[in-house]
Amino acid sequence: MTTRRIVVLGAGYAGLAAATKLVRTAPGAEITVLDARARFVERVRLHQRAAGQAIPEWDLAEVLGRRGIRFVQGKAVALDLDAREVRLADGAALPYDTLVYALGSAGGAADVPGAAEHAVTVATPEDLADAAPPTGRALVVGAGATGLELAAELAESRPELRVTLLGADEPVAHLSARGRAHVRKVLDRLGVEVRAGAKVTAVTAAGVRLADGTEVPGEAVLWTAGFSVPRLAAAAGLAVDGAGRVRTDATLRSVSHPEVYAVGDAAAIAGPDGRVLRMACATALPQGAYAATAIGARARGAEPREFRFRYHLQCYSLGRTDGMVHAVRADDTPARIVITGRAGAWVKERIVRFAAKAAGLPS
Ligand SMILES: Cc1cc2nc3c(=O)[nH]c(=O)nc-3n(C[C@H](O)[C@H](O)[C@H](O)COP(=O)(O)OP(=O)(O)OC[C@H]3O[C@@H](n4cnc5c(N)ncnc54)[C@H](O)[C@@H]3O)c2cc1C
Repeated sequence: MTTRRIVVLGAGYAGLAAATKLVRTAPGAEITVLDARARFVERVRLHQRAAGQAIPEWDLAEVLGRRGIRFVQGKAVALDLDAREVRLADGAALPYDTLVYALGSAGGAADVPGAAEHAVTVATPEDLADAAPPTGRALVVGAGATGLELAAELAESRPELRVTLLGADEPVAHLSARGRAHVRKVLDRLGVEVRAGAKVTAVTAAGVRLADGTEVPGEAVLWTAGFSVPRLAAAAGLAVDGAGRVRTDATLRSVSHPEVYAVGDAAAIAGPDGRVLRMACATALPQGAYAATAIGARARGAEPREFRFRYHLQCYSLGRTDGMVHAVRADDTPARIVITGRAGAWVKERIVRFAAKAAGLPS
């Protein structure tokens, strides 16, 4: 199979990790990266942006151009798997021999009545582009990692807000008692009200409605519950799972179209216990780097070793001066070591910086 023209679809953590490594693993290939955005924005800092802080950005054409990678800014609207072309919104087509599908994910509120009109989703830079800063009582929906980090950041940066965090479970309910206690202590200190067991079924102009009929009043609703993936793969006929993520083999190739590799949030990749790896830059980066290695190996006529991944840590920022880094076992279940407080914040910040570096972005 020829790999002369490699197109990387999506310049997020996974796509950039793949593209920048391909320069070394597939010398001589013509590498093109396509993204709808001109600039890379650190998605893992979007809760900081939602709280009014400035966050770093990089010019993709410049960063990639310096490495000899062609960057095309444009929105992919379809894949023609037979013709091996990516179709762009402006009518252009990008032909490929090998495609790296790395389109990531967006917010997951589309089906919730009222969310589109009354909630600000915190999942992509575009979500926040025209969003008015929250005022009064801010309701953060979703007590997963994003919701927890957002609630803490808002409460710390904007002390005039009253912040409520609503979720099915307590934040970090899956971690150790020590980890849970630390998070609870910080949220208490920051004045964040936590409402566990709250399933939000609608967003209104006055707040949110819960499954049991309770109305929770709030001037601002910030949605962090769930992510959804682009429909392109499913629409083109690539084999996908129930959520629309590309199903891959052990070398991260599409199970239906071996000339397509899929990495990051938009791919369904099995972890050490057989479950699909969680959507995270911690999983996206090694997947992207691995895809570059596998493509390079096959270009030389070799068969790559299977993708191997194990979890090490779960990291949470709790504002700018507190954080928690929780060791986990290979299968993401909690281990004993927990770093909290300023040390936790310091480690988390270093990991975020490292992630940008691992994606090939200059510091
Ligand atoms: C607030 C927040 C905090 C987070 N914190 C953490 C954290 O601490 N640790 C962690 O591991 N993970 C965290 N995550 C999750 C992490 O950001 C994602 O899992 C990660 O970005 C996935 O990388 P990716 O490359 O697969 O996709 P993305 O980063 O989503 O990149 C996909 C790229 O594809 C482009 N694209 C999409 N559709 C098209 C199209 N049709 N045409 C052209 N281009 C397109 C997008 O513009 C984007 O640049 C956080 C997420 C959020 C929202």
